[in-house]
Amino acid sequence: MTNQPTKSQLEMIAVDVGRNIDKMWSDWKWQQKNATKDVRLLESYFINIDSGFFQNLYKESGDRIKFQITPYVLYQIPKDISKEKILKNPWFRQFFPQGKLYTKGHDAYDGTDNWENPEEFPTKILHHKYDNRVLIRFRECLGYCSFCFEALGTLEKNPQERKKFSYGNWEKSLDYIRKHPKVEEVIFSGGEPLLNSDSKLENMLKDISEIKGKDEKPKIKFKRMHIRALTINPFRITDNLVNIIKKYRINEIALNVAHPSELTPEFEEAVGRIKEGAGRYAPLLVLHTPLLKGINDNTKTLWELFSKAYGMNIKPYYLLHSMPHTPFGDKQRVSVRDGIKLLKPLWRTKSHVALPEYIIVHYDGKKTVPLELNGTPEFQYTQNSEGNPIVKFRNWKNNWVEYPDVKDTIN
Ligand code: SF4
Repeated sequence: MTNQPTKSQLEMIAVDVGRNIDKMWSDWKWQQKNATKDVRLLESYFINIDSGFFQNLYKESGDRIKFQITPYVLYQIPKDISKEKILKNPWFRQFFPQGKLYTKGHDAYDGTDNWENPEEFPTKILHHKYDNRVLIRFRECLGYCSFCFEALGTLEKNPQERKKFSYGNWEKSLDYIRKHPKVEEVIFSGGEPLLNSDSKLENMLKDISEIKGKDEKPKIKFKRMHIRALTINPFRITDNLVNIIKKYRINEIALNVAHPSELTPEFEEAVGRIKEGAGRYAPLLVLHTPLLKGINDNTKTLWELFSKAYGMNIKPYYLLHSMPHTPFGDKQRVSVRDGIKLLKPLWRTKSHVALPEYIIVHYDGKKTVPLELNGTPEFQYTQNSEGNPIVKFRNWKNNWVEYPDVKDTIN
């Protein structure tokens, strides 16, 4: 095992040190139980950072945003890191609130709505946008990513009632799936599906698998999951979970990863457990990568991530332009066109199987970004009436929509 902490380090982050350390460290429940939610602990952990630094940064967000750092994540950041370096550290930038909330600007976070279409939620937990598939939206996570696009249900300390996951809605959601003949695929998605116990997951997968179509055959042909667990707590991939993945024939698992440092030996071992444990029924593993300023907004880092994933037989699938209306968007978004400038040097110089599709996630549906700096007739870079950069494009429904962009910074 790598990155194994010393006992004294563990004592500082763990409440319960009565058990064997090796076993505890690789027990996903222990990792979650000992996840840090207290700024004071960070202050005592990082030996070269003055007390008050974390507290002040945290206070700037108005005490509204959650953080939860597993011991595993904490150990990815050097204990003796300086204040200047931690502010640039990809783990810290992803899992700790990044100061003042971004509340003024055409793409700002107003704290009242995620960028979603309410009419696409026939139940509180079921999201139906595209004809053939529905998402089941969990709202809690193993750790909280500062760039999350559904902050009202996840990052906010007091999530909005209508955004909370509720098992009371499960029967209604199953009923909705039964009544919609075109639905053939179910995706367990974010929050984090794997925060559920194995038995809860298994019961839900069983319910879905038992839905019959008109022909009396199983109606749901494909099952998928979007997870962040391999970055935050790779020990969540237990043998029992892998058996469930195999038994219910999960077709695809999308791994949300932003930076190559997340592909640790523990991450790779978890990938191995899925592939070897599920054997011929192993799901297709793909990478979803949010494009984030200060974390992966350079070609070298992106290629390091894509090539490392490809080397593990994980397909880089989506590079997701960082969405508007997120709490720290002013510190995390790069322009759509800057994303093209980062990706273009990889086109044709690297194998395309190792490169993702560059995607805009609009509340009205995804759009592939054409890798043309001047846009195309159906994808135009322009400004709104206040002079803010926007992208206008024709979406999958053939409608013109607008997407709030930010200014280019790469020449
Ligand atoms: S794990 Fe997913 S849903 Fe949860 S905070 Fe991170 S990005 Fe958001």
